[in-house]
Amino acid sequence: MFHSTNVRKIAKYCRRTISTSRKCDKTPTRDDKGASLSDAQIEKKFLRNIGIIAHINAGKTTTTERILYHAGSTQTVGDVDKGNTITDYLIQERDRGITITSAAVTYKWKKHMINLIDTPGHVDFTIEVERSLSVLDGAVTLLDASAGIEAQTVTVWNQAARYNLANIIFLNKMDKPQADHMMCLKDLKVNLGIKVGLIQLPVKSANNRIDTVIDVINRRALSWPEPERDNGSSYLNQSLDEFQATTKKPDKKLLDEVERVRECLVNDLADSDEKLASHVIECDRIGQVSDEEIREALRRCVIKTEYCPVLLGSSFKYVGVQQLMDAINNYLPTPVEREEQILQRFGLNKKAITSSQQPCAFIFKIMHDKRLGALNYLRIFGGKINRMQSLKNLQTNKVEQIKRIFRPFADELTEIEKPVFKDDIVIVTGLSDSRTGDILVEQGFSKAEENSVESSRGEMELQAGEQPSPSGQVSMEEEAYEPSKAIAAARNRQPFLLLNNELLVPNIPRMEPVYFCTIESPSTSKQMKLEEALACLSREDPSFTYEVDTLGVGTIRGMGKLHLEIMRDRIMSEYGVDSILGPMQISYRETISGCAVEELKVNRLINGVRNRLSLKLYVRSLANSGAWNQKRLRLDCGPESTLSTMRADHRRAVETGVSRAMMHGPLLGYPMVDCDVLLLEFQANYRCGLALISSAASQCLMQAFSRCSPFLMEPIMLLEVVAPKAHNSTIVGDLSSTRRGVVISTQARSATDSIVVRAHVPLATLADYSEHLRILTSGRASFSMELHNYAAVSESERSNIVRI
Ligand code: GDP
Ligand code: MG
Repeated sequence: MFHSTNVRKIAKYCRRTISTSRKCDKTPTRDDKGASLSDAQIEKKFLRNIGIIAHINAGKTTTTERILYHAGSTQTVGDVDKGNTITDYLIQERDRGITITSAAVTYKWKKHMINLIDTPGHVDFTIEVERSLSVLDGAVTLLDASAGIEAQTVTVWNQAARYNLANIIFLNKMDKPQADHMMCLKDLKVNLGIKVGLIQLPVKSANNRIDTVIDVINRRALSWPEPERDNGSSYLNQSLDEFQATTKKPDKKLLDEVERVRECLVNDLADSDEKLASHVIECDRIGQVSDEEIREALRRCVIKTEYCPVLLGSSFKYVGVQQLMDAINNYLPTPVEREEQILQRFGLNKKAITSSQQPCAFIFKIMHDKRLGALNYLRIFGGKINRMQSLKNLQTNKVEQIKRIFRPFADELTEIEKPVFKDDIVIVTGLSDSRTGDILVEQGFSKAEENSVESSRGEMELQAGEQPSPSGQVSMEEEAYEPSKAIAAARNRQPFLLLNNELLVPNIPRMEPVYFCTIESPSTSKQMKLEEALACLSREDPSFTYEVDTLGVGTIRGMGKLHLEIMRDRIMSEYGVDSILGPMQISYRETISGCAVEELKVNRLINGVRNRLSLKLYVRSLANSGAWNQKRLRLDCGPESTLSTMRADHRRAVETGVSRAMMHGPLLGYPMVDCDVLLLEFQANYRCGLALISSAASQCLMQAFSRCSPFLMEPIMLLEVVAPKAHNSTIVGDLSSTRRGVVISTQARSATDSIVVRAHVPLATLADYSEHLRILTSGRASFSMELHNYAAVSESERSNIVRI
């Protein structure tokens, strides 16, 4: 969005002009809805931080595009099928018609300022969704009204629920002939575990086109007879009597239906809202409850996350988008209201959070702009932030200076000169060593131990640790290995953490890359540029990692094939380096059982210099630690130990050697996990070479590993397939007989006549699953998967796995 080339492209695509004709005077024009409001006028009660979430293809990007247009942020309407949208700004997104990175844009609508994030729906980018949700206060969940709930819908809904987001649902694609709002409503009631209810009804015109939406709360009909003329900007807003007179089609059934749905809504809300309940008692008939009372109760219930209103329309055909924008303003919480929610739900200390004046910001996204450098998207969780302010990065402990602050309005960055406050979402430049997921705090801030935020960098930590006896008689927990326990714990963890009882910060799980491949540039002259591109991309996306060996061959790791292919494409389009990817391979892991002490002595003459060193390492399995990426070296700093006076360069050399051995396990060279390394003894003469120390540490650790019965582990995915009932046995049969899958549940969905199959399946057997499922079900199924755990690979399977 902010690359000048992309801006030019947008300009090139922009051919349409806005029609200024207005059908109805009552309808506000695009220009008077707030695009001209200055920042200073925005009070907290008018601020919304929201996201659009859904299964891929439900219409998130299309809806975002229509919203930006109606808000006056854009002068033309982008179209994913033509590849000219604002939020799908990467060339890869436009070429493929999918959202890959979350895009944050700000728009203004009827006095409100809304920070909106369009999230990706593809499983390879789940972590991107997770990070976005952690900075939001509310969400719009989109459904394709002809498909109902799809596999990823449930996944993103559950993620949003973990972050306690208030939600409104928009049934999109109501223009499709198969669209069925009642089917969707049933599906939602059965599957989402929250009370939902329609607040609108659709009316189709004679040629079966949706052109009217009835607002059941105020009993008005909103019609778009010719949306193509002005991209749906103007619409008729009529009472039901006027509407029926205009259409010359008196329909008693429609009026009855409106009353029925309205009564249902009032009853449902009165169940959760005492104020409305007492008001209902005062009225003779439920129909007499006023619009205002209903809207207020609805807002309270949405914010308490006890109710979810369902709106409908068609973004593509411009029907119902302005009402969705109104609902965002009316029903989704302000950041202040949401704080109450988080506090209640997670039992946090109210005084601490609401009173914190300390600056604290979370980097939820980084993008590289050729002109401005790294653009860091921040949500401010405490205090205020100024330009030229220095803040400490909690993960690196380094001080970083913010240079400039911007707000993303469609495809333009508007610079902000004034300070920005708690609860806002902005972009800052000037940070040179921060990564997505890092937290920035005041320089003097030092976190209290009990609240420490885990480093998400996966770096080696060197610290004084427990003291085992040198003979290796360290007490070990002998429990059975159960990585799934740890993963379950990670999933159920608090989505927010309290730092020093003062600052509330997101607690994002780490995602382990499950695929890898080699990457090479065709010429050595481009090697530097390639490494630079890899460094930038891994800062943007922590689920993408890389390493380059001494021969210059790089290995990249990511969440899926699409993820890695997209990265290759981006290296080409954004950095001008054409790279070659090796075959995609699954990222296995290696681990050990038991423990061992290993000693190594070296005495060698190199170039006439005597190198003498001895070191002793202790390694043990950390089977129940749950961290499969544990890479720690600790020092044995007991009373008799000399390690506390160890030279810093020697210490770093040992660390380097240990980390190299951890990256390439003894069996097939896959990363080691779930083990703990302790340096017991170290001695080296003054002139001993650092490279020799590193390789001795590596070698010593490798020997220790091989004495601890190392074994291979493979990623097991939790797969969820949604398909018509008729395909149940084929899907289950395929998973269990040809894919080594274990089906854990099959659930019928009465509303849609479909089933949901959940299974644990080794990733190694899922390479062709997407195509295969399409063939099995004639394209009528959808699936999602996420890493469940790592499990030991059987002997028979091991022969299929190659050495790296
Ligand atoms: P996303 O993956 O959720 O961002 O979905 P997109 O916005 O990229 O839309 C996916 C496809 O659905 C595109 O081909 C859109 O043109 C189409 N689409 C989006 N909204 C509608 C709608 O309201 N009606 C119809 N018929 N198609 C739509
Ligand atoms: Mg999209």
